[in-house]
Amino acid sequence: MASKSRHYDIVIAGGGLCGASLACALVKSGKRILVVESVAFDSGLQPTYDERTVALTYSSRNVFSALGVWEQIEERGSQPIHDIHVSNRGGFGQAHLSCHDVGTEALGYVIPVRNIGRVLLETLAQGEGTELLCPASVVSARVKQACCEIEIAHDSGTLGVTAELLVIADGGRSQLADKLGYMVNIKSYEQSAILCIVKTDRPHQGRAYERFLDDGPVALLPHRIDQGADRSEANGSHFAMVWTTRNTEVNQRLTLDDKKFADLLQYMFGDRAGSFSDPSSRKSYPLNRIHVDRPALKRSVLLGNAAHTVHPVAGQGFNLGLRDVACLVHLILESGLALGSMEMAREYVSLRRQDSRAVEGFTHTLIRTFSNSITPVSWIRNAGLLVIEHFPPAKRMLLKATMGLNASPQKLTSGIPTH
Ligand SMILES: Cc1cc2nc3c(=O)[nH]c(=O)nc-3n(C[C@H](O)[C@H](O)[C@H](O)COP(=O)(O)OP(=O)(O)OC[C@H]3O[C@@H](n4cnc5c(N)ncnc54)[C@H](O)[C@@H]3O)c2cc1C
Repeated sequence: MASKSRHYDIVIAGGGLCGASLACALVKSGKRILVVESVAFDSGLQPTYDERTVALTYSSRNVFSALGVWEQIEERGSQPIHDIHVSNRGGFGQAHLSCHDVGTEALGYVIPVRNIGRVLLETLAQGEGTELLCPASVVSARVKQACCEIEIAHDSGTLGVTAELLVIADGGRSQLADKLGYMVNIKSYEQSAILCIVKTDRPHQGRAYERFLDDGPVALLPHRIDQGADRSEANGSHFAMVWTTRNTEVNQRLTLDDKKFADLLQYMFGDRAGSFSDPSSRKSYPLNRIHVDRPALKRSVLLGNAAHTVHPVAGQGFNLGLRDVACLVHLILESGLALGSMEMAREYVSLRRQDSRAVEGFTHTLIRTFSNSITPVSWIRNAGLLVIEHFPPAKRMLLKATMGLNASPQKLTSGIPTH
């Protein structure tokens, strides 16, 4: 099998958002690390680093600050979210959430994933003990008493390596998790998210919108597009749109011409964000819910989407994955537990359980309650929005949960570098 054999402290299978973030967090740790990524960064087939934007929470910004990469990410284009308007189509309930409610300078930041990827990969390239093998795929792994034996396929053959710990960060529907015997629970939402950038004739002023429609929510995230030296919003502005749609209607919405698509969005969303035009090319993502009850075993750990894939309704997936990263970094660098040991696996499972369950439960309940046209459910969601709007403790509780401020803090989520 192997043409050459090498030993690493940690092998990370998957250099997507979570795998690359973990590698950056460990870049100065003195550990020997190998990141294996299947698809080249600039390839049109790259599943992570595509045209999407993600909303990062304040706690995720802290993690990137602690890694020393936040300034570079921000310089390449980041749009703060100052407030969020939540409403329910055909209902009276609405809520307005602001960064002033929690005393932070922003509720979150909208960032193109490709910019995050570029900064993470540049940082990795500077690490002396860190190697990136790409394009290459981890095809199998076998757990032994003292290490994990890992087989990697690349352009010119296969390579066998060993590691104290294999971190599986290969995304949702992880094939490696299956191979290593993890109990992976997958359910399709029978929905897809349609994404594009859309123009509006009004300034967005840092406001995001979430509007619940009968077949799923549409989110508009304020988006910064640098038009030469002119960064003013005098001639309108842009939103990154995420529209959850039943699978049966996806193709029809993807193939509408631009004018008809903008008109449909306008009809469903209303005019509170202005008049929509010029949608960019649209792409759809099938939506699944993936849950693994015990995301760590001896010599291996599941990270990010491989451990838990959540609905994008509240923009929580990567933010949750970054908190996995913060926890794992703490266990590797500060806990004193042997790398890859059963004790480390148990501690990871125990430390991550509450946060993952809370986010998975919250997003799932949100989508079940708000993508439902049954009348009593519609009353409940209107009432829910009214409570949030008029009862400040409920508003603060919701904001803290969605900003990742309720999870038990680690050095990284508090913005403190680990070395
Ligand atoms: C429509 C949509 C909108 C979203 N919006 C937000 C948002 O606003 N905020 C937020 O926090 N999250 C958001 N998310 C979720 C976020 O994109 C994911 O949580 C995040 O990408 C997970 O990162 P990951 O590294 O775990 O997995 P991935 O991003 O899937 O990366 C996995 C990587 O592993 C590689 N790989 C796979 N198999 C192998 C192998 N065998 N060997 C080597 N490499 C391998 C793949 O090529 C890939 O690069 C959104 C998701 C969707 C679908």
